[in-house]
Amino acid sequence: MALDSKVPNTNGPLSEMWTNYKDHINLVNPANKRNIDVIVVGTGLAGGSAAATLAELGYNVKAFCFQDSPRRAHSIAAQGGINAAKNYQGDGDSTYRLFYDTVKGGDYRSREANVYRLAEVSTNIIDQCVAQGVPLAREYGGLLDNRSFGGALVSRTFYAKGQTGQQLLLGAYSAMNRQIGRGKIKMYNRHEMLDLVIVDGKARGIIARNLVTGEIERHSAHAVVVGSGGYGNVFFLSTNAMGSNATAAWKIHKKGAFFANPCYTQIHPTCIPVSGDHQSKLTLMSESLRNDGRIWVPKNIEDAIAIREGRKTAIDLSEDERDYYLERRYPAFGNLVPRDVASRAAKERCDAGYGVNKTGQAVFLDFAAAIQRYGKEKAYVKGIEHTATPEQIIEMGTAVVADKYGNLFQMYEKIVDENPYKMPMKIFPAVHYTMGGTWVDYNLMTTIPGCFSIGESNFSDHGANRLGASALMQGLADGYFVLPYTIGAYLAPDIKTGPIPTNTPEFEAAENNVRTQLERFVNNKGSHSVDYFHKILGKIMWDKVGMARNAQGLTEAIQEISELRERFYKEVLVPGTMDSFNQELEKAMRVADFLELGELFAKDALHRKESCGGHFREEYQTPEGEAQRDDENFAYVAAWEYTGKPSEAILHKEELKFENIKLVQRSYK
Ligand SMILES: Cc1cc2nc3c(=O)[nH]c(=O)nc-3n(C[C@H](O)[C@H](O)[C@H](O)COP(=O)(O)OP(=O)(O)OC[C@H]3O[C@@H](n4cnc5c(N)ncnc54)[C@H](O)[C@@H]3O)c2cc1C
Repeated sequence: MALDSKVPNTNGPLSEMWTNYKDHINLVNPANKRNIDVIVVGTGLAGGSAAATLAELGYNVKAFCFQDSPRRAHSIAAQGGINAAKNYQGDGDSTYRLFYDTVKGGDYRSREANVYRLAEVSTNIIDQCVAQGVPLAREYGGLLDNRSFGGALVSRTFYAKGQTGQQLLLGAYSAMNRQIGRGKIKMYNRHEMLDLVIVDGKARGIIARNLVTGEIERHSAHAVVVGSGGYGNVFFLSTNAMGSNATAAWKIHKKGAFFANPCYTQIHPTCIPVSGDHQSKLTLMSESLRNDGRIWVPKNIEDAIAIREGRKTAIDLSEDERDYYLERRYPAFGNLVPRDVASRAAKERCDAGYGVNKTGQAVFLDFAAAIQRYGKEKAYVKGIEHTATPEQIIEMGTAVVADKYGNLFQMYEKIVDENPYKMPMKIFPAVHYTMGGTWVDYNLMTTIPGCFSIGESNFSDHGANRLGASALMQGLADGYFVLPYTIGAYLAPDIKTGPIPTNTPEFEAAENNVRTQLERFVNNKGSHSVDYFHKILGKIMWDKVGMARNAQGLTEAIQEISELRERFYKEVLVPGTMDSFNQELEKAMRVADFLELGELFAKDALHRKESCGGHFREEYQTPEGEAQRDDENFAYVAAWEYTGKPSEAILHKEELKFENIKLVQRSYK
């Protein structure tokens, strides 16, 4: 099957493509929208915004989430902010610059037309959210405030303290609630989609399990939208919410949706380091901290050893004993280099023996200079710059830092039990976001007609690396401003179809398929818990498919994952029954999917013989240790077709054409 990206062939400038497209697509008459049903799986920022907008337009929406409320979607965790090219700072931002930064930041592995559209609608997102009452931070004068994030030389990130995702989600949720109240959205909390139903080649429904009663339900619709989030939890330890999983995306993959670029994973540089094998989750310290925090390790290896052994602390080292390695290597961007660059640089220093915690897997994030700078600024403003004592300067500076990042510092102190205002934080990279996902065309439709994928669950516009604050932007762009148009064009011929019946052989077969999988687990009576297998998978993924990969490790990983999968089915123990609330059963179904996805992930990483963005192949690096892309052979999206086994997945290539941006080696020096 040839991949058709459906990018409109307007022959005009990229800046007019989306407008022209919208001007000419089929519309559904408002009176006909009420004859059409749409299923939305997932009510995070992507699914929630899509469900609310589609219902507002008049479609009948059925929305599903596995949590007890849409408000618990993983989107709530987003701390740092959301990008938009508003240029409020007057620092030269524009749609083109956001487009450019995103394509460059993604290491030239994204589709130009989609990224341009994303940059274009980004400004509408902010207006929409402000109108909903989302309390984005404001300056004294009342204008919305911005801060900068990695990979950009402008301040374009809108934020709500360290709770941006939560506030945006409350906005989407209140928009949903209005429609739930009107009966236009039927909300299915605590329901998990476990299969897609295809009728005459089109997505026409899902099989869902009521997680409280265990009941297996059939739900039909004229189209199915999947906004089920990312699959970072394939690594077991990640910054993702513990429940985040790949099942919905993987089930549609098994039914024919190609899975694109599974190996593109974002490793976030500023997370609280792993402290032992008792953990089930890692905690992110927002990237916004890199605006003011300086990252360093000791210059001398003896000092690093002394710190690791507890004989010295960070504050015992003078300025000239510290190596601010990001500022040294990347003077133009300094601590604000993109995440992939910052993560690799931390790994490089730690691998060389300069790590600063017991395991040697941590670097410092230090606010002492910011506290001094802000303190002196305050003293100047108060007219006491000549009389303020050093203690007063620290006190005033600390107050400014607390104002900007207080809740993050509080969170760090609670977890690590160390005061980050006084002692530099220890941080290390961790798995955070997945740029891969179900392949979609310009309309956000997968290779299954009528099955759409939005937000982190699609292969997204971020290419091989996502710049900070762009995931929220993409999720909301998809849900509020893109899908509502493109799905209308798809649904226009369906206005006379009438309700889709669920008593058909297709629904029957899909339901039986789900039932068989559930029965297999509860009847297995093995000897190991689901987590036991998930942890082993996570370790293989981190060691061999993590921050750096090579052919030998990947080949081993493929073999090991496939063997682990066999063991899992033989030895897993799932207590309880399938007709009740059974969290072990839920997990078993999800880990089963991770055990297939993990293998495809490694296969994808092995075939891509280049380094780009979040995919760093040790064999392909420049003499300075930077990622070495191979545009001649790999400037494509790798979209995999399921054939029954991940090892036998078929590779399809969507060639990427860059007509508006010239491909160059990414440099942040
Ligand atoms: C700690 C943290 C901080 C972050 N900070 C930022 C930031 O500052 N800026 C930024 O841009 N991005 C940030 N991100 C990334 C961003 O939060 C996510 O990419 C984004 O929120 C994903 O939104 P989503 O709607 O696609 O998915 P999610 O919010 O993960 O929602 C998924 C939804 O799908 C549902 N679901 C999943 N599977 C099923 C199923 N089988 N059946 C039924 N329902 C299902 C879930 O119940 C949920 O409702 C951060 C991520 C993390 C982990």
